[in-house]
Amino acid sequence: MEREKYSLKDFGFNLEMNFVDRADYFQDYIHQLDDSKHRAYLAEATTGIGSTMTVRDIYTREPRKVISFVANDYLGMSKHPQTIAAGIEALKKYGTGACAAPIIGGFLEEHRLLEREIAEFIGQEDAMIFSSGYGTNTGVLGCLLGKKDIALTDTFVHMSVTEGLSNTNVKTIGHNDLDYLEMTLKKVQDEYITKLVIIDGAYSQDGDIALIPEILQMCRKYGAFLMVDDAHGIGVFGETGRGVIEHYEILGQVDIVTGTLSKSFGSVGGFVGASKNIIRYIKWYAKSSIFSAAITPQATASSREALRIMKADPSYREKLWKNVAYLKKCLLESGFDIKNTVSPIFPIMVRDNYKVKKIAAMLLRSGIYAVGICYPAVSRKDARIRASVLATHEFGDLDNLVHSLVKIDRALNFRQ
Ligand code: PMP
Repeated sequence: MEREKYSLKDFGFNLEMNFVDRADYFQDYIHQLDDSKHRAYLAEATTGIGSTMTVRDIYTREPRKVISFVANDYLGMSKHPQTIAAGIEALKKYGTGACAAPIIGGFLEEHRLLEREIAEFIGQEDAMIFSSGYGTNTGVLGCLLGKKDIALTDTFVHMSVTEGLSNTNVKTIGHNDLDYLEMTLKKVQDEYITKLVIIDGAYSQDGDIALIPEILQMCRKYGAFLMVDDAHGIGVFGETGRGVIEHYEILGQVDIVTGTLSKSFGSVGGFVGASKNIIRYIKWYAKSSIFSAAITPQATASSREALRIMKADPSYREKLWKNVAYLKKCLLESGFDIKNTVSPIFPIMVRDNYKVKKIAAMLLRSGIYAVGICYPAVSRKDARIRASVLATHEFGDLDNLVHSLVKIDRALNFRQ
C-alpha cells in the first residue's frame, strides 16, 4: 500500500517560518487530507450526538444513521427528558446566556446551587463552576502555581493541565510510576514552595485509572498537595458514582478535584472542588472565569438535574458497567489489544498513524462512528481507534462494532 504524506513536516512546515507561511503550508496539508478522505472532521451530525445518531458525510453530503462511540455522555444524560426539561425551564427563566463573567455580575442563583451540590457530591468543602472543563484546569492551575512552585504531572494528564502550567515549573513523573514519583518528590521537596502532584482519576486515552491512594500517601510523606482531574471518573466510578476517589474509598481526602459537566453530566462546563478558602481564592484569580462569560443557565440547570438523577437512580451506571464488561469480553475474545482499560474508554490499538485514519473512515462507511486518535494526541506508535461506551448502547451495537473491526482487520491487518 502506498503511504501518503500525513504529517505537517512532510509538507515542509516548520516553526522557523512566519505564521503566514505556516498557514499556507497548513492549507496544502489539509487539502491532501481532504483528497485522501482523511479529514479533520469525518462527518457532521444532523441529530444529537449519542449512541445512535445521524451524520452527514462531509464529502458526499449523504446522511447516514450510525452507531456511535464518539461521545462521552456516559450515562445518556444529554438526552434525558428531565435534563432537557430542566434546561428549557432555565432558558425561560434566565434567557439564553449570562452575558457577563461571574465576578462582574453574571453569577446566577442557579450557578451557586450547582456549586453547592457538586461540592457535596464529590466530598469537598466547596466548589466553583466554569464554562468548560478545559478552562477549569487552566484557570485553577494558572492561579495556584507560580515561579517558585512546581507541578509534578503524570505523563498522560490532559492538555488543559499542561496549558495551565505555563507559568510554573513542571516535572513529568511517568505514568502511575510510584518509584519515579518518590524519587522526584525527594529531589524537589526543599527546592520549591508549593509542590502539587497532578493526575487524572481515569485516563482519557488509555482508560486506565490512577493509583490514587499510593500517590496521596506519598504526597503526604513529602509535603506535596494532590490534584485529581476526574473528568472521566465522576458519575461513572465508585459505589455511588462519585468518581475514582470514591472507588478507592478516600472521598474528601484529595486536596483539589476537578471535573467536567460535558461527560457523565451530558452538558457543558467544568468544576473544581477544594476547601472553602481555596475556592474563594480561585474565584478571585482564575483568569478563565474572571475574564470569560459565566456558564449558560441551561447548561447549569441541566447539569443540576443530571446530578439529581445520578444520585437517585443507579440504573444508568449499572447499565453502563454491563456494557463495559460485555464489550471488553468481545474485544479480548476477538484478539484486539485494548491496553489496560478498566473504564468505558476503549483504546483499540492500531499503532499506525496512517491505518488508524483509514480504519475510522471504513468504520463510518459500515455504519460505525468511532474516531481515530493519532499523533500528536498520542505518539505515532500509540495510534488507536477510541470507542467510548455509553449506558444507552445495546449489546447489539457493541456486537456491530466488534464485527466491523474484525472485517476491516482482514483488509488492513492491525490486530495484535
Ligand atoms: N480533563 C480531561 C481528562 C478530559 O478528558 C477533558 C476533555 N476531553 C477535559 C479535562 C476538558 O473538558 P471539557 O471538554 O469539558 O472542556
